[in-house]
Amino acid sequence: MPELPEVEIIVRGLDRALAGARIVRVEVLDPAVVQGDARGFGALVAGRRVVRARRRAKLALLDLDPALTLAFHLKMTGRLVVQNPGQEARDRARLIFHLDNRASLVFADLRRFGWCRAVSPDGFKDWDFFRSLGPEPLEIGPAEFADRFRGRRASIKALLLDQRVVAGVGNIYADEALFRAGIRPTARASDISLNRLRGLHAALSAVLGQAISENGSSIRDYVDSGGAAGAFQNSFRAYGRAGLACPRCGENMVRVRVAGRATTYCPGCQK
Ligand SMILES: [Zn+2]
Repeated sequence: MPELPEVEIIVRGLDRALAGARIVRVEVLDPAVVQGDARGFGALVAGRRVVRARRRAKLALLDLDPALTLAFHLKMTGRLVVQNPGQEARDRARLIFHLDNRASLVFADLRRFGWCRAVSPDGFKDWDFFRSLGPEPLEIGPAEFADRFRGRRASIKALLLDQRVVAGVGNIYADEALFRAGIRPTARASDISLNRLRGLHAALSAVLGQAISENGSSIRDYVDSGGAAGAFQNSFRAYGRAGLACPRCGENMVRVRVAGRATTYCPGCQK
């Protein structure tokens, strides 16, 4: 599933390709991916101009004028790709937005867990999911970050994955941040010192920043808005490395389940 860095890369590409263009026509090839009124979706969106693309948590947001926002959640296999004239890769396409600059924005999704929702300016206030999202980890300091975990009895990994605690972190970056911070994913947050929680914030910020600079991680379906893969998967130190030697201490890394998710850590140096 694309996480914060991958969605960040996607929206930067969309912003470059689409800002200023007008949506002239919308093809709703699969009404099931539209949350809300799928029948009226095309007519609601057509004619509006793209102001900007931005990210909140794992959502890609397209702000339009007159004011309306398209929110996309890519879930497992969703993609947002800009196609230029002559490219006709409509494979798995669910929605196609045709623009007056002759490009089109394709929302494709193999497994169809992803969705798109049109949100009016007032609509954000009534959207419980959006309102429940915690702060962006790259926009808060170590003290505020630590405060969100302090004294909580759940495992640190479960809390990192909880979008209400901090937004945008999924399985890959949770495991990578915990490894770099030397914290065992199963540890209760309440058992972790304030200093180590601050260290986790530093590790998470570093890993997210590095992943953004390397165009995200491509393990299954992720590509950026131009169709290019990321490179951060080559920098994984924990994710997917169960049974391999820990790059820090050499002990064999193990896989357990935490919060229902496959979790890899080093029993030697993550306490
Ligand atoms: Zn180790």
